[in-house]
Amino acid sequence: MKTIRLREGKERSLHKRHPWIFESAIARGGADSGETVRVESHTGQFLAWAAFSPSSKIRARVWSFEEPERIDPTFFARRCAEAIQARARFDIASDALRLVHGESDGLPGLVVDRYGDTLVAQFLSAGAHRWKETIADALLGCTGLQKLFERSDTSSRALEGLPEQAGWLRSEGPTALVLKEHAWQLGLNIAKGHKTGFYLDQRDSRQRFAAYARRLGLQQVLNCYSYTGGFTVAALAGGAGHVTSIDSSEGAIALARANVARNGFDPDRATFLEADVNASLRQFHASGQSFDAIVLDPPKFAPTVAHAERASRAYKDINRLALKILRPGGVLFTYSCSGGISADLFHKIVAGAGIDAGVDGFIHERMGGAPDHPMTIQFPEGEYLKGLVVMRK
Ligand code: SAH
Repeated sequence: MKTIRLREGKERSLHKRHPWIFESAIARGGADSGETVRVESHTGQFLAWAAFSPSSKIRARVWSFEEPERIDPTFFARRCAEAIQARARFDIASDALRLVHGESDGLPGLVVDRYGDTLVAQFLSAGAHRWKETIADALLGCTGLQKLFERSDTSSRALEGLPEQAGWLRSEGPTALVLKEHAWQLGLNIAKGHKTGFYLDQRDSRQRFAAYARRLGLQQVLNCYSYTGGFTVAALAGGAGHVTSIDSSEGAIALARANVARNGFDPDRATFLEADVNASLRQFHASGQSFDAIVLDPPKFAPTVAHAERASRAYKDINRLALKILRPGGVLFTYSCSGGISADLFHKIVAGAGIDAGVDGFIHERMGGAPDHPMTIQFPEGEYLKGLVVMRK
């Protein structure tokens, strides 16, 4: 068993059960990619079992803080089962859900989503990658399912020194699927879509949006960064008169259009623009067009804190433009999924956007990811998605 020894003082975060060990914390020791190491304090005291990642700044990720524990197939079967059992207690109105959410479920670097009878997994860390076959078996064992598709084709794999990989890991089946969320059906593609195919984390926000549409009798709705039209369908289901959806991806727009039809809505109630959101917002403002409700759910502008300043300007810009074309009394659902932007900073950005737009509003609700994307009290980095529901004065 290989060992890594930490510098003096660097044991503190492990005592607080934080699962990341940065390169700078390590005094000596090393191992192969994904290999399990014993982590010791500078005095040689046991701290954790971790997966070593020779090329990542996060040089090791903790599997377990318990010395008697063995990191073996039984361990992975148990952790997967615990994550899946926890979901049975969560409030999830869908047949598609996240079963394993990385560090929050004690499985750093592993993401597993279930779409009906198909599992889609991402092995994003050296440790998760090394144990891929074991984890695949554990997942099938815990769920009783047979189909498992891998979507480890993310750029973050390069940070771990891993190539991008995608394809069926166990059995095979269709990659174009339809999920049932709340009362509506949404088509997705697990092979070509973003992440594992769908933004499951916005499930509860979509339902809230439908509720606002119903309660306020929204007429003109604008869904920015619409992807496959989740918020579009939600608004139409809530009775919105007309929804304009904007996304720069042709494939996403095609799926969004199909999703509106799939749910039986009159196509005249929906307009789709394959366009840049920023440019479209400027055009709406220039032509005097305004809306009763706007969703702003952009991609990750700041993956880490290092990108926060530039990302802040980008968030402020779109929020300023959106507030300008929002009618008085209208609602803005605005989000950031950037790990590098805290909830507090995001609030300040939206406040600044309001000042620049000359608009004030009531914060009606603070939103977060759906409960199957949990954060734990010991892993604050788990909070990546935050949103504000603002009603313009
Ligand atoms: N709200 C969606 C998820 C949005 S993901 C849902 O509920 O499913 C972000 C989307 O922004 C992606 O579909 C991506 O194609 C799109 N996108 C990224 N940059 C864009 C830009 N500059 N203009 C328009 N769309 C953009």
